[in-house]
Amino acid sequence: MVKIHNFGAGPSKLPEEVYEILKQEFTDFEGTGISLLETSHRSPAYAKLNKDVQDVVRKLLNVPNNYKILFLSGGGQGQFSAVPLNLISRTGSADYVVTGTWSAIAARDARKYGKVNMVLPPTDRYVEIPDQSTWKLDPNASYVHICTNETIDGIEFDFIPDTKGVPLVADMSSNFMSKKIDVSKFGVIYGCAQKNMGTAGVTLVIVREDLLNQALPICPSILDWTANARSDSILNTPPMYAIQVMGRVLQWVDRQGGLDVMAELITKKSSLIYDVIENSNGFYNTSVAKKNRSRMNIPFRIGYVNGDEALEEEFLKGAEALGLIQLKGHSLVGGIRVSTYNAVTVEDVQTLVSYMKDFHKKHA
Ligand code: PMP
Repeated sequence: MVKIHNFGAGPSKLPEEVYEILKQEFTDFEGTGISLLETSHRSPAYAKLNKDVQDVVRKLLNVPNNYKILFLSGGGQGQFSAVPLNLISRTGSADYVVTGTWSAIAARDARKYGKVNMVLPPTDRYVEIPDQSTWKLDPNASYVHICTNETIDGIEFDFIPDTKGVPLVADMSSNFMSKKIDVSKFGVIYGCAQKNMGTAGVTLVIVREDLLNQALPICPSILDWTANARSDSILNTPPMYAIQVMGRVLQWVDRQGGLDVMAELITKKSSLIYDVIENSNGFYNTSVAKKNRSRMNIPFRIGYVNGDEALEEEFLKGAEALGLIQLKGHSLVGGIRVSTYNAVTVEDVQTLVSYMKDFHKKHA
């Protein structure tokens, strides 16, 4: 069987070493004699895991003490509602910076709970993050929402916006744990785990304490950050196994040397792919502005200008035969998408790069 190189955008590859650890503790969690799958979330064993995973998140991101770390259900999309439900009550309106497909969906969901001000002019083609001097921020907004990495469109923020004291809320679903960030610049950061942090089921939410206690009365308890913070994320039965996986993945990141090491590697991996694109005379092409090209989701088309679907099919078929899998672009944008999250190795990427070069040569 050929060696598999998994470039999925999420759920995506997990580090091999983490699978070895998970296998060992699957039926005997930390010496309890039973699996975590059959353990109470109110047990000492789970209380320890809950604390261990919070500790590693706090350590990797250097999370200040005045921020709560929550493990919630409902995925990234659950937070599209949780954010307005928990924060919009202060003024009844919120600013949304729509720079791609996911932030557009977040804005659409928020409209159910209050007034949404679109900070940028509407577009159906996302290619860059406009300079902040052009943004129409409302000083009366309860918060400003951004998506720091648009997984489908391959667009990543290269700066932290200055929101002049209005709390900044960021969906980091696809670039959480890819580099160090200054958490103190944000009011709330959230993200699903199934990309760079583990498997689907748990959503990591980091919230500044002064932003608690203002949820709308209609906010369901399971989306209420304050209620979840008060009960240390065991308000209801949490997605315990997903939290176990996230903990083991983040402890692995820590053992590799932490987020500076991950950032260096991810830049190296994505540069390898972008270099092939740049040097292909337009055979491989991306319309994303250089400054905003994502380091972990790289969508591109094949076959000059608009993309040749037959050629892209052939590319995907040939890739699969070599074990290079989950490369099909999101159906909304088509083409190919390479994801270079932390668990993807430089060797995985080099194998893909050599296939991309061969494929281009064959069709030059
Ligand atoms: N935000 C971003 C940036 C995402 O990439 C995704 C998932 N692809 C989501 C939100 C939604 O996450 P979930 O599927 O866990 O609801």
